Amino acid sequence: MDVKIGILALQGNVSEHIDAFVLALDRLDCGSSSAVVTVRHPADLEGCHALALPGGESTTISRLIDKNHLYEPIRNFSGGIFATCAGMVLIATHVDDARINTLNLIDMTVDRNAFGRQRESFETDIPIAGVDGGLFHAIFIRAPVATHAGAGVTVLSRLDQGIVAVEQGKHMALSFHPELGGDTRLHERFLKKIGV
Ligand code: GLN
Repeated sequence: MDVKIGILALQGNVSEHIDAFVLALDRLDCGSSSAVVTVRHPADLEGCHALALPGGESTTISRLIDKNHLYEPIRNFSGGIFATCAGMVLIATHVDDARINTLNLIDMTVDRNAFGRQRESFETDIPIAGVDGGLFHAIFIRAPVATHAGAGVTVLSRLDQGIVAVEQGKHMALSFHPELGGDTRLHERFLKKIGV
């Protein structure tokens, strides 16, 4: 399959996601028939099979999504969405911050900064349902958690503070940063979900 992956490139960890998807596509032997592109305007989404919403500052990204007229195109996007950290905040139905114009694509309630401030960032090895090959080294940077997930949401991993990995339909949301560290198992799982 010729696959095109868009990375929302308004603010945040954009280049890390590009590198991780390029690596994951190579590992799935689709490197030569695929493209990873940046998305800043609605036309950039054309032909994309998937879109990554990277980590960064969710209030800023939400404002830029509106400013760049991307809210409706992302909300109506027919492909899968891979949302990490700030992306998990954006993709939820409910968020504890009125400044976020939520995309309402995964039925969950998300608390921003659930672990505290920057200095409470941490790394830990966690089990993730459906991901073989042992624990995943997860990097949490001012991370959110989901405090509630609806019936249609599959919870893949949780910590004491709340849910940190979910899937709903073609979409996946993670409160940590799988694009850092070279382990592409979650990117690969997502790519397989969208038919790669
Ligand atoms: N706490 C940030 C927010 O809610 C997310 C942090 C991150 O993406 N690393 O916007």
